[in-house]
Amino acid sequence: MPGKRWTKAEKKSVRQQLANGTAVCRIVVENRTWVGIAYLLRVLRIHWSNRWTRAQARSPIRQVVKEHQKLPEIQVENKSIAAINSKRRRLRVAGKLGVSQPVLKRRYSAAELAKLEHWGGDMRWTARQICQRGELPDRSYHSLSKEMGRLGYGDPIRVERGKQARRLKDKLRRNFEQFLLAEGRTLSSEKIAELWGISSSTVNSYRRRLNVQLSWLEARAVSTTEEKRQRLAETRTMHLKRRWALYREQTVHKLLHLQQRLERQEYPVAIRVCRSCAAGWFALPAFFSVQRKKESRRVKISMSTTCRICKMKLKQEGQRSKKAPSQIAPGTCHGSR
Ligand SMILES: [Zn+2]
Repeated sequence: MPGKRWTKAEKKSVRQQLANGTAVCRIVVENRTWVGIAYLLRVLRIHWSNRWTRAQARSPIRQVVKEHQKLPEIQVENKSIAAINSKRRRLRVAGKLGVSQPVLKRRYSAAELAKLEHWGGDMRWTARQICQRGELPDRSYHSLSKEMGRLGYGDPIRVERGKQARRLKDKLRRNFEQFLLAEGRTLSSEKIAELWGISSSTVNSYRRRLNVQLSWLEARAVSTTEEKRQRLAETRTMHLKRRWALYREQTVHKLLHLQQRLERQEYPVAIRVCRSCAAGWFALPAFFSVQRKKESRRVKISMSTTCRICKMKLKQEGQRSKKAPSQIAPGTCHGSR
């Protein structure tokens, strides 16, 4: 590609980054691809290679054989996790990592392919479903998912959604990492997610990889965003709603039970018919609310004409037509006996 000429400033930037000790593969220049940067390095006669040096190759052998490190903990300077993973595989095949057998890649047999065609192609099952039902017990979910992708058995809508998912590519990813290490260091993950248009779980996973996670205290200090407040408010409302529903259910149950018990005892109290549901309840404060009104000489006591159950229902319907449910928890409410 006949590219733009490298300006003095750009060349200087590359030299500076090298002088600062930035690894060659991590050099970032605005609007320059990695291919462009590699070209400049050749022109400047700065030799680099991503081949594994002897010292680099010895490092994972030591870490695996002597220190028994698993993949995420193995660290080799200037090598990515993917590079370390494939190197580890090659070392294992070469027998340098002791007697453990490498996981060999097995081709799908004709029988397996036929099963995949049936379940994935004709029946339109997802890889997850096929794996869970144990149709191909020797294959992991990831193996099935990959093979189905190669064969084009995916659900077109899901495949499209996957393609649309925002992933950070090469240069953008390097910029993002730089941001996380510098200005983004003290921002909340939600804020960063908003700035970059990605999900906050992606931000968190990058933070873990770069080892710049926020401590619990820091996270609490910076997480006062509007979004978080809203989420908490929603959780609280849902919780209250659930408590109210439970409270209503229990009250209705309790009243019905009491009515039956009193009926069995042939309790000597008049039956009062509710104006709303037309059911006959005992004329007791348990079933009908009682109002006391102080007058000049006496206290006037009057009993509601609607039973407590109907009142509860009416109140609930009124709330639903108005807006969110009451912010008072049932425990502190007047309604119960
Ligand atoms: Zn009623």
